[in-house]
Amino acid sequence: MSERTTITVARGDGIGPEIMEATLRILNAAGARLDYEEIEIGEKQYLAGNTSGIAPESWKSLLKNRILLKAPITTPLGGGYKSLNVTIRKSLGLFANVRPCRALTPYVQTHYPNMNMVIVRENEEDLYAGIEHQQTDEVVQCLKLISRPGSEAICRYAFEYALANGRKKITCLTKSNIMKHADGLFQNVFLEMAKEPKYASLKTEHKIIDIGAAWVAARPDDLDVVVTLNLYGDIVSDIAALVAGSVGLAGSANVGFDSAMFEAVHGSAPDIAGQNIANPSGLLNGAIMMLVHLNQGDIAELISNAWLKTLEDGFHPADIYRPGISKEKVGTKEFADAVIARLGQKPAQLAPEVFSNNSFKVELTSPAPKKKELKGVDVFLNWNQPGRNPDQLGALLEKANGDGLKLLLITNRGVKVYPDGLPDTFRSDHWRCRFMADTADGLCSHQQIISLLQRVSNLGLDFIKTEHLCDFDGVRGYTLAQGE
Ligand code: NAD
Repeated sequence: MSERTTITVARGDGIGPEIMEATLRILNAAGARLDYEEIEIGEKQYLAGNTSGIAPESWKSLLKNRILLKAPITTPLGGGYKSLNVTIRKSLGLFANVRPCRALTPYVQTHYPNMNMVIVRENEEDLYAGIEHQQTDEVVQCLKLISRPGSEAICRYAFEYALANGRKKITCLTKSNIMKHADGLFQNVFLEMAKEPKYASLKTEHKIIDIGAAWVAARPDDLDVVVTLNLYGDIVSDIAALVAGSVGLAGSANVGFDSAMFEAVHGSAPDIAGQNIANPSGLLNGAIMMLVHLNQGDIAELISNAWLKTLEDGFHPADIYRPGISKEKVGTKEFADAVIARLGQKPAQLAPEVFSNNSFKVELTSPAPKKKELKGVDVFLNWNQPGRNPDQLGALLEKANGDGLKLLLITNRGVKVYPDGLPDTFRSDHWRCRFMADTADGLCSHQQIISLLQRVSNLGLDFIKTEHLCDFDGVRGYTLAQGE
C-alpha cells in the first residue's frame, strides 16, 4: 500500500467549488491516502493582476507537492490574460495529455457501445510552441519543432501506460508521408520502441492522421491506445469525446517526469454555477486518474465501480438525465452521496475499469551525437519586383555565386520556379533560394555563408532568414524541393 501523499487542490471558478467539494468528499469517504493544500487560481487572480491566473506564492505549493487536482476556471473576457493551463503545463514540463474516452451505453448515448480508447497526446511541442513570424507582406510562418526526446517521452509513456493498464494495441497517428522529417521522427521513435521485446504483447500500428481521424470518428471501437502529436491529439481527442457522448463526464491527466495535473475536460459552466446541478463526474474521473498515478489503484477501482453503479442505478445529474433510463434527477451533492453510498459495490452491466498501479518510469535514451556536415544553405528572400519573374531573380542571384557556394534552385511556397520553372506556378513575395557547396569535399563553412549573405545584401536583396542544409551521419537532414 502506498503512503499518504499531499496534493495541491484548486477549487477554481463557476461550478468548480461545487464539483471539487463533491469530489473531495468521495475521495475521503473511499479512504484515499491524500492530504490537501489549497491554492487559489482563476478569475480572482487574473483580476488581481496576475496575468497567468495564479499568484506567485502558489507556485511554492505546486513545486513542493507536484500534483495538482484542478477544478475548471473562468478566463475573464478581454485581452492580456495568459492561459493558466498552458502556463502550468509548460512550467512543470507536463509532456503527456491523457484522455480516456469510453462508452457508457445506455446511460450515455453513443453509436459505439464498445468504444474504450485512451488518447495520449504530446503536450509541449509541435505548432503549440507558438513560434510565429511575419516574414513578408504576404507570408507568415509558424514553426513546427519536433524533438527526439519529446517524441521518446510521449511514445514511452504510451507504451508503458498500455502495458500497465492491460491495453492490447497502440495506434500512432502522424502525417509522415508529407512531413517526412518532423512527423517522420515521431513515427520512427514509435516504430523503434514497438520492436522492444518488453512490448511484444502489444499490437502496434501506424496510420496517417487523416484516415486515422476518420477511424476515430467511424470505427472508434477498433482503437485502444492512440498516441499522437500535439495538434492532431487536440483534434482527435475532441472527436473521440464527442463520439463517446461523454464530453461532460471525461477527466484528463497532464503528466510530466516529476509533476502532474488532473482535471475535468469541461469548463467552469458559469451558466449553472451555485445551483447544485453540475455533474461532478468529469473532475471525479480526473481524480480517479490521479489515484492511479499515485499508486492508489485500489481506491481508484473502489470509486470507479461505485460511480458506474450509481449511473446504472439511474441516479443522474440534470445533464445526463433521460426519462425512461434515469430513475432520479439528482443534484451535485446528492450525486456524490449516491456514489459514497455505493462504495464497495460493483456495476452489473457496465464493465468495471481495470486499474493497475501506474508505477512506470519514463526514461530517455542518450544517443551518441551524430556527425554533422554543412552542405549548403537556403536563403529566404522577400522579393516583390513587378511580374515576380523567377528568371529575373535567378539571373540576379547567380551574381552572388562564388567563394564555395553556388545557386542550385529557387522555390516559391516549396515548388521549384528556377531554373526551368513552369509559368503557371503561383508566386508569392517569399522565395527560398538554395545554395549548395561548390567545393572539392562538398562542404561549406559558416564564414562562406556569411560572405554569401553579404553578397546577396550588396545586390539589394532583402534576405529574411536562412536554414542550413546538413547531413547527419551521412543522412540528408532536409527535404528536396518539389520538382528538384
Ligand atoms: P463549459 O464546458 O464551461 O460549458 C459548456 C456547456 O456545458 C454549458 O452549457 C455548461 O452548463 C455545460 N456544462 C459544463 N460542465 C458541466 C457539468 N459538469 N455539469 C453540467 N453541465 C455542464 O464551456 P464554456 O461555456 O465554453 O466555457 C466557460 C468558461 O470555462 C470559460 O471561461 C472558459 O474559458 C472556461 N474553460 C475552462 C477550462 C479549464 O479550466 N480547464 C476548460 C474549458 C473552458
